[in-house]
Order: sequence, then structure tokens, then C-alpha cells
Amino acid sequence: MSWQHITDFIHKLYNTEEFVPLHVPTFAGNEKKYLLECIDSTFVSSVGKFVDRFEEEVALYTGASAAVVCVNGTNALHMAMLLAGVDRGDEVLTQALTFIATCNAISYIGAHPVFLDVDRDTMGLSPQALQQWLEEHAEIRSATCYNKSTGRRIKCCVPMHTFGHPVRIDELAHICAQWHIELVEDAAESLGSFYKGKHTGTFGKVGAISFNGNKTITTGGGGMLLFQDAELGRQAKHLTTQAKLPHRWEFVHDHVGYNYRMPNINAALGCAQMETLEQFVLNKRETAKRYAEFFSDVPGITFISEPENARSNYWLNAVLLPDKEAQLSFLKYTNDHGIMTRPAWELMNRLPMFSHCQTDSLENTLWLAERLVNIPSSVRNV
Ligand SMILES: *Cc1c(COP(=O)(O)O)cnc(C)c1O
Repeated sequence: MSWQHITDFIHKLYNTEEFVPLHVPTFAGNEKKYLLECIDSTFVSSVGKFVDRFEEEVALYTGASAAVVCVNGTNALHMAMLLAGVDRGDEVLTQALTFIATCNAISYIGAHPVFLDVDRDTMGLSPQALQQWLEEHAEIRSATCYNKSTGRRIKCCVPMHTFGHPVRIDELAHICAQWHIELVEDAAESLGSFYKGKHTGTFGKVGAISFNGNKTITTGGGGMLLFQDAELGRQAKHLTTQAKLPHRWEFVHDHVGYNYRMPNINAALGCAQMETLEQFVLNKRETAKRYAEFFSDVPGITFISEPENARSNYWLNAVLLPDKEAQLSFLKYTNDHGIMTRPAWELMNRLPMFSHCQTDSLENTLWLAERLVNIPSSVRNV
């Protein structure tokens, strides 16, 4: 099959004959100004006004009671699960269709992921799959959830808002509450995405955002923790700053802490990017609309639109091909013709570190994995 009309469309959409990458950052505002200000102040490291301001702005935008910066999204997820009480030997329920960071963070604690299916429309953890798996495999003893076959405590559930599309987070929250499981949201990809009017990452106990270079906004590298409980936010600040007790000259620490602070120079970039975030999201939503219109006339290809009740940031646009063979052919053609596309991440349960982990049927996950392709999604110059 020839896919030329598709590569032509994408070249035109991005107004270039050149290679179209999947996602690149846009610096269109005060980035240089704030970076210079930061350097001139000499406060380029772990304290400074940009850190406080970035946290305040993200909290304001997301409606979180507290927001705490981290060095990257992976560290933010690690910290989020520690704060949710995940301990060595616990199990954490998550999806196989995610980026490795989710599972690495679980592994840093010495906990074990269990991979459950996603819904086809959200591509995120399925409430139905979660409920069904818990009914079959879990039991509650003294207000604690245990896996009946492994005997391990099931402490936490970490859904991920895939490609920026919100999962059915209210249903997941409800199920987790019933089963005494803490909810942590991997909102790394979903800054700017709302579910029923509430920002993703603010439904669970903790939410983690990423500001890596390929995300909707970037600080070079960076992450942020979102809290509904401001007291937990204060704990996060303490633990991410080496658990040092405030004192003018003494170095006393009351806990094994982490140096997970985002430097002020990265936060300077973040403050500038926050000023253009909403503009970026609107731009990306317009791009998604153009894709949706275009692909509605392309037989055999389905463009994935935002799920019900959601306002998606459309971080990475995605299409579904009819089968694995078409997926491969599409990937090859587009990458050969100046359009960067890629399939979803290799499923976590297929990686050597996690191939022994418990899963359910993963029916929709497997179905999506052999059809899904991400297509260029950067903010367009308009
Ligand atoms: C980007 C991302 C992260 C965090 O990545 P960092 O590069 O460490 O900021 C975590 N989870 C998912 C699903 C991601 O896409």
C-alpha cells in the first residue's frame, strides 16, 4: 500500500519539506530572559526564586494543594510511591502499556509491578480490568489488601494517562478506595489534560509530572509532584532535599533523604514554559483536529481522539492500523519518507526485568500494541 498522501499531509501540516520529528520543544517566550536573570543572580542550583515560582504556578494551573519540583519525572514517581507508603516486597498495580520509568520507579523501592489491561479508548488502566483482577486475586485482611497467590501486600495502583489522554480516573479512585489501595497517578505525559474539569494528577494521593525534553513543556529535565494534601507536600519537600532540618549552620538530617531537587536554572525555563503552556495545548488540540478530519477519510486508519469526559493535551497523537503487518509497513514508509513515527513502547511484561511479573489477559493491551503508531505532534509554527 502507498501511504504517500499521508506523508504529504503531515509535511504540509508542519509546513516543511524536511524531516518532521515526533516531538520537539518550543521556546517562544521568556526562556532566555529568565535564564539570564537566573545566571546573573548566581542562584543556579537547588534554591532560588524560580523554583518557588514554578511550584506555585503549576499548583495554580493544576488546582493541586501543593506542587513540589523534582529532578525528573522518574524520581518524582519514585518519591510519589514512597510517600504513598510503598515498601520493599509490596505489589503495585499498573499497566504494561507505559514508559519504562513507571516500572523503574517501582523497582527502586524493591516492589513488584503487576500488569493489568487498559481500555482501548483511553489506552490507560481499565477500571473493569482492575475490579475483575482484584475480585479474583486479592483479599482484604485488617484493612490491607493482599495478593492471594503471592501473599504480598498490594499497596498502590499507578495508572498512566497515556499520550496525554486521561484515564477513567474517578472510577479507578473509587475501586482503589474500596480495596484499601493507594492511588498514585503517572501524569508524566498529561500536563494540560483534564478529566471532568479536574486536572490529571490531582485525583490520587500523589501525581507525578515530567518536564523531559519531549514532553508538552520542558525544563531540560525535570519533574513535579502534585498533592491534594498540603502536609504531604511538605513531607515531599523535606525528603527531596536530603531530609535536612532547617538551621542556619547545622547539618542535621532526620531521615534517609534524596537529592531530588530541581535546580533553579531548570525552574527558570519552567516558569517561561508555563506562560505558554495553554497556548501550546490549544495549538496541539488544533493539530489533533486536523489529523482527525484528515484520517476520517483514510480507510483502514483510525485516529485516536480524546476519550469521553476528557480534555486532552494531545501530547502524542496516535493512529490505529488494521493489523501488525500494516503497522510495520506504515512505520517503514513514514520513516523512509521524512516523517518520524513509532509504535508504542515495548510492553513492560515483555522486557527481561519484568517478564516474570503477574499479568491479566492484557487483551486490549496486546490488541493496541500491534496496531498503534504515534505520529508527529510538536507544537506547530502558526
Ligand atoms: C516521560 C515519562 C516519565 C518520566 O520521565 P523522565 O524522563 O524521568 O522525566 C514517566 N512516565 C511516563 C509514562 C513518561 O512518559
